[in-house]
Formats: sequence, structure tokens, C-alpha cells
Amino acid sequence: MGHNDDEIKISRDEEEENLAAWLLGIKTLKIQPYRLPSLGPQDVKVRIKALGICGSDVHHFKTMRCANFIVKKPMVIGHECAGIIEEIGSEVKSLEVGDRVALEPGIGCRRCNFCKNGSYNLCPEMKFFGSPPTNGSLAHKVVHPANLCFKLPENVSLDEGAMCEPLSVGVHACRRATVGPETNVLIMGSGPIGLVTLLAARAFGAPRIVIVDVDGHRLSIAENLGADATVQVSTLEEDAGAEVVKIQNAMGSDIDVSFDCVGFNKTMSTALAATRSGGKVCLIGLAKSEMTVPLTPAAAREVDVIGIFRYRNTWPLCLEFLRTGKIDVKPLITHRFGFSQKEVEDAFETSAQGGNAIKVMFNL
Ligand SMILES: [Zn+2]
Ligand SMILES: [Zn+2]
Repeated sequence: MGHNDDEIKISRDEEEENLAAWLLGIKTLKIQPYRLPSLGPQDVKVRIKALGICGSDVHHFKTMRCANFIVKKPMVIGHECAGIIEEIGSEVKSLEVGDRVALEPGIGCRRCNFCKNGSYNLCPEMKFFGSPPTNGSLAHKVVHPANLCFKLPENVSLDEGAMCEPLSVGVHACRRATVGPETNVLIMGSGPIGLVTLLAARAFGAPRIVIVDVDGHRLSIAENLGADATVQVSTLEEDAGAEVVKIQNAMGSDIDVSFDCVGFNKTMSTALAATRSGGKVCLIGLAKSEMTVPLTPAAAREVDVIGIFRYRNTWPLCLEFLRTGKIDVKPLITHRFGFSQKEVEDAFETSAQGGNAIKVMFNL
């Protein structure tokens, strides 16, 4: 009896102490209590210690939607996170209380053909942190399947663990485009996703990487992260022809693979035109739901267009890249905030303004 009483007391205490950042309306975030789902036998409870703000979180914050996903009721925001195991389900063997872990945010159904074939990122029933209607992880604690929590190597920090999520996008894109030691890579866009794609492409062995943006400051960051050349472009469509030549000259040899990390008509048109015959253009940034691009001339040169949706099976490789120092994500973390009402608001404003912010990180 005494044991049961204790359990009831603990769960009541937790209800009071587990706070989360709820998105209540456009540009309205409030720290409020978050009652966790019960811990299943295969689940773990994680004390979140680090969480990065993603472009999609900012989109939800500004517009209450992202692509076809609409926020219809209050939702806990956030998905790029790492923390410390606080409790394990009765059947969990792989993790122990106190382990530091990076969390993969999407839970597939495990029953559909995509899940069964290993393409679980395409699962139509995916439950993904902070993608409506699924609550996110900007909270003191979350409950998550143990098999989506990856133990951090000793020399990898919790902040770096949280960076596995955006880095995974770059790793998945490089796998899809089969980047290797003979692949010269063009990257359109030097924002957070362009930069993780740069880091991933280098780790996959790309010998020469050219990165393109409209913003000179962002290009200087890319240079510091190891880009071989950068090209500053305009937003004007009529400049595209001359810019393609400039980009090809900056590469100095054939462009085998291009990643469009923006997703405007102009960035995609430039990528299609700049890529060599028989090469690949990988569309990562989805700024526009529809694009008008000269596809036919690219198709007539056997340029393959590859789509990207999030990632799959990338955490172990990301952690290996971080452990061995093949990738250093620390320079991408430009701003840090604590977890108070004021700081949550300031952090999202900072991330929404863009400017010099690359990755805005919470330390909880
Ligand atoms: Zn993200
Ligand atoms: Zn599924």
C-alpha cells in the first residue's frame, strides 16, 4: 500500500513540475504544465537538456502551420533535442537511468509498407515531435520509445546531440544523392540546412564544395566551415544565366550533385542548369509548395531530380561523425537561451528574425 501511495504522490508532483512551451496561437508561446503519457514497457522518460529551434518550428510559431500540417489546438513545440534518461520502461534493455541520449523525433507506425521496407520517414501515420497534432519536446520531460533514443559517446555534448536532428537532413540527402570522394557538390543556400549539408557532404568525402547565397555574412560562415568557394547571387531572375556561369567557374570542374536547400524557382532553376549532364539535383528546402522551373532541358541531359523528406536511420552515423571529429557542429550554435517564459519568447523572436542566428539552442 505504502508503495502505491508513493507512486501516486510522485505522479502528482510530476504533473506540477513538468512544464512545456505550448504554441497557443500565432506568435503566442506559453510555458504551461504538460501531463505526459504513461511510460510504456518499451519507453523511456527523458529529462530534456538541450533543444534547438528549427525552421519548421519558426514556421509554426509565425503561421500556425507548416506545409500541409496545421496547428488546430495548443501544441508543445520543438523537436531537435537531447537529454538524460530518468526512467526506463519494464522491457527496456538498451538504456539505463542517467544515460545521455539524442532523440530521433519521429515515431513510425511499424505496420505500413514504408515502415516495413525501412523507409519509415515516409510513413503516413508518423507521429513527429512538434508536428501537429503531436506534441513536441520543448519540455522538462518527455516520454519516447527507447529505440529512438541514441546514447551519446562520452566526448559528445548534449548540445551536439540535439544537432543530430538537423545534421540528419544533410546526411540523408548525401546518402540519397550518393555523395562520395568523387562527387563535386553545389549547395544553394547557406542557412542552417545548407550548412549541415556542407558538413555532411565533406564527411562523405566530397572533394570540392561550392555554396551559394544572397547574404555575404552567411557565405562567410560557410567559408569558415570549410566551403571551397562561395558565390554571392541576387534575388533577380534575370541574373540567373550569368550566375550559373559564375558558379560553374567557381567549381572549376563538373558539378556532379546540387542540393537546393532553399526551394525557390530561381535556386532550383540555377541548380538544374549548373549541374552536369547525368548529374543529380536534390531538393531539400521546401520554401514554395509549387515551383516553375525549366525541367525539360535538364531532363534532356539526364539530370535526376531527387526529393528529400526528413531522414531515416541517420542517428548512429551522425554520432559517429561527431565522436570522431569528422564533423564539428558547435560553430553552428550561435545563440543560447534558458527555459523561462521571457527567454522562450526571445529565443523564437531571435530565430524568426534570421539575421546572424544560425542555430538557437535552449539549455533546460
Ligand atoms: Zn529540425
Ligand atoms: Zn508506417
